[in-house]
Formats: sequence, structure tokens, C-alpha cells
Amino acid sequence: MTVTVRFAPSPTGHIHIGNTRTALFNWLFARKAEGRFILRFDDTDVARSKQEYADQIQKDLFWLGIKPDVTVHQSARFATYDAAVETLKAKGLLYPCYETADELERKRKLRLTRRLPPVYGREALKLTADEKAAIEAEGRMPHWRFLLPNFEADPFAPHRTEVHWDDVVRGPQTVDLASMSDPVLVREDGTYLYTLPSVADDIEMGVTHVIRGDDHVTNTGAQIALFKALGGVPPGFGHHNLLTTSTGEGLSKRTGSLSIKGLREAGIEPLAIASLAVLIGTSENVAAVHSLDELADRFDPAATSKSAAKFDPADLDGLNRDVLHAMPFATAKSRLAELGIDGDKAEPFWLALRGNLDRFEQAHEWWAILSPKGRPSYAAPDEDREFLKQAFAELPVEPWGQMTWKIWTDRVKQVTGRKGRALFMPLRLALTGRESGPELANLLPLLGREESLARRP
Ligand code: GLU
Repeated sequence: MTVTVRFAPSPTGHIHIGNTRTALFNWLFARKAEGRFILRFDDTDVARSKQEYADQIQKDLFWLGIKPDVTVHQSARFATYDAAVETLKAKGLLYPCYETADELERKRKLRLTRRLPPVYGREALKLTADEKAAIEAEGRMPHWRFLLPNFEADPFAPHRTEVHWDDVVRGPQTVDLASMSDPVLVREDGTYLYTLPSVADDIEMGVTHVIRGDDHVTNTGAQIALFKALGGVPPGFGHHNLLTTSTGEGLSKRTGSLSIKGLREAGIEPLAIASLAVLIGTSENVAAVHSLDELADRFDPAATSKSAAKFDPADLDGLNRDVLHAMPFATAKSRLAELGIDGDKAEPFWLALRGNLDRFEQAHEWWAILSPKGRPSYAAPDEDREFLKQAFAELPVEPWGQMTWKIWTDRVKQVTGRKGRALFMPLRLALTGRESGPELANLLPLLGREESLARRP
């Protein structure tokens, strides 16, 4: 059986690094098994879902290197869910309830005072056809609950009913179906909550593994029962820990915290994000990987910790540097070309520069600095003027290569008697206008003799 996973975001905002963890756990899991990855927009809530968010999520995933085999929208699949509702009704497993939120809250409190578990007591199951008709005649519409299989013959005498699964992340799990309320699957207005569409789709799409955040562990108990009620075979499940910021706050799609779009606009590389999103909160070191293949090799869902993974967004800066410092020219080439950096010098330029970059875009700045238009207008202080004059007079003849800087500065040392910073800094400032930057040994051949001479202050 082909391993088939799905990533099921609701398009109600921009995905953030926490959603990326879920997407990548699925993607890497499927990739290791040569399986399929379905992108399934959980957009049955048509009022809150927006196409622009779905489009952005697709773009973000693509940018991260996640290319779904199939993309589907749940909003186009209501016929499947309606059919599932009919199946459940026919089996007597979906029943109408009429309580308002206030009534439910009162019932919950009452049960607590009676030392009963604060779950729904299935009172609506007792309503006769006449009573239901009378309520509906008042204009009240039912919401529909799934009758959990936590009893023998009498639904009013539920007893401990354990559901077990071997979680691919957390190991053996147990949920007691008597500890939860019958889940509402359909609201008063006929709209679907996420549970039923999710299970109906997982069955129809042949999903073999459901990997998602551990906020869904309890849902899984009810969903396994629903898989069976709908005649499906429950897939494997994996629940990874959630990411929180260092102050313990959760991430929210709606507040836009650490959105992929925002990180991208801030110049963070996709691999820096992927490295953090996958490796944080596991027994692996959070170190930059240089390809998703490498990440797949390091990815072991079972090595994920069970508690929330706190992370500091500032770690992304260090990872970003590590990704850039090792980025091969072949990877950088097309992006450099977009910045107008091409031709013979593009590769040596990249190799000279990458070790100094915090952000890819800085390449543009350095390319400009090295071009005649970016010639610095450096006004040397009095004490360096004579030194610089002497130094530039010693510039070696071409051809220039890797050794030119050493040959030149050895000679300048001899002639001027200067050494160390007193020797290098005025040369760096004259040549680049900057106090720091890539190794001058690498920059000098890129500048060439003519351009270097033109920078003599
Ligand atoms: N839309 C749900 C979520 O983002 C999907 C959960 C699932 O993968 O089943 O939490």
C-alpha cells in the first residue's frame, strides 16, 4: 500500500512555522516511504476560509520545497460528507440535539456538582418524535452528535472504552471514549465541523497516516470510532508536539505570528525555516540542513519530545547564515541572476561572498560595491594618505588570482613597515568603503587591477 499523507490547513490565515512543522513531518514521512502527499484545504467553514489564504499557503509550501501530489478543497466535496451523514443516520449513530450553548453549560456544571464527568449526558436521545417535532415547530434546528461506542446496550450507561493506537510519534496511546462527549458533527445551520469531513476524506483518499499536532490526540479516539462507523479502516496516527515561543505563547494563524510569508519577506531562507521547524523539540541537534533530502535523513518522528517545543525566533538568523554560508553556486545562480548578478564573475563572486552573508539580498549590495558605479568615495585620514599612495603604487601586474592579495600586502609591509590592522584596514576602506566584508584575497581578483587602481584615494 502506498503511504499516503495529507496536510489539512484551514485557509483562515497565513501558515506559520508551527504549521510548517506539521506539513514537513508529513512531507518527510511520505518522502522517506516514497509515498504521496495530499494538500487538503479544510475550508468547509466558508465564512472564514478565503481563497487568497489558500493561494498563499500553496505558494508558501512550494517555496519551502513541498510540492503536493494532489490538492483538494473540502468545500467542493460536500456530496461525500452528506453521504457519510446518511450512512451514520441509517445506522442510528447520528442523533439530533437541540440544547443551546447556555443549556449545555448549565448541564455541565450540574454534572460536576454531582461528581459526574462533565460530558454530554445524551439527554436528546430520550426525545420522542413528537417532542422533536414540537421543538422544531418553535423554529429550533438540531445539531447532530455522533453516538460514541462506549456502552453495551444502554447508551445512558457508558463505561470505560479504551481506544488504542501505536502513534508514529508518541508511541502507544490510549483514549477512553467514556471520558468525552459525543462529538457534534453537524451544526444547527447544517454546516460541518472538521471531524466528519476529515474522516470521510481520509477514507475516500486512501490516507494511510494522519500526522498532526498533539492538540488532536483526544479527537483521534473519536475519529477512530468514526472511521469504523463509516466502514473504513483507521489509518496510522502521529501527533507531534506543538511549537511555542520562548515565552510559552502558542502560534496563531490569525494573528500572523511568525508567518512563512513574513519570514520570507524578512529574508529567511526556506531551509533555515525547515531545519528549525523539524528539528526543534526532538533529540536531534537544531543545525542547518542544506537540502530536504538531508533533512529527510535526519528526520525520525519517534525522536520527537512529548512536551511543547519552545523556540527562539532569533535562532533563525544563525541558521540562515549557516544555510547561506554553505549554499552551492548552482543553488544560488538563478536567484543571483534575478538580482542582476550574472556573467563570468557570478560564481567567484558568490564563493567569495557567501561566508559573509546574513541575508541573500546582501549579495546585491556587494555586487554594487564591486562595480565601477559603487566605487567608494573614501576620504583617507591624513595619517594614512602617504601609506595608501605607496601601497597602491605596489599593486602587482595582472593576471591576478588567489595569491595576489598576499603578494601585494607582503610587498606593502616591506615598503611601508606597517603590519596588522594598520596595514589592512586602510586598504579595505579604500577598496570597499567598508570596515568589514569578505576576505580581500577573494575580492581583489574580482575587482581587477584597473578598478582597484581607480579606488586609490
Ligand atoms: N485543519 C485541522 C488543523 O489544522 C486539520 C487537523 C488534521 O490534520 O486532521 O488542525
